[in-house]
Amino acid sequence: MSRSGWPERCPVCRRPATAEHAPFCSRICRDRDLLAWLEGRYRLPGPPAPPSTPDEPDR
Ligand SMILES: [Zn+2]
Repeated sequence: MSRSGWPERCPVCRRPATAEHAPFCSRICRDRDLLAWLEGRYRLPGPPAPPSTPDEPDR
């Protein structure tokens, strides 16, 4: 019924996630997902110019 509650499934290895590393099952999968996300983000086709500004005027 309510699929938004516990337990979650690790998106990396499909194992039951733990509360400590939710929504992943372990720190390993957490790092793996983060790395994959970063890689996919950096390898995204598009303009190489980053949206971030080097200097912040309001600070
Ligand atoms: Zn996992």
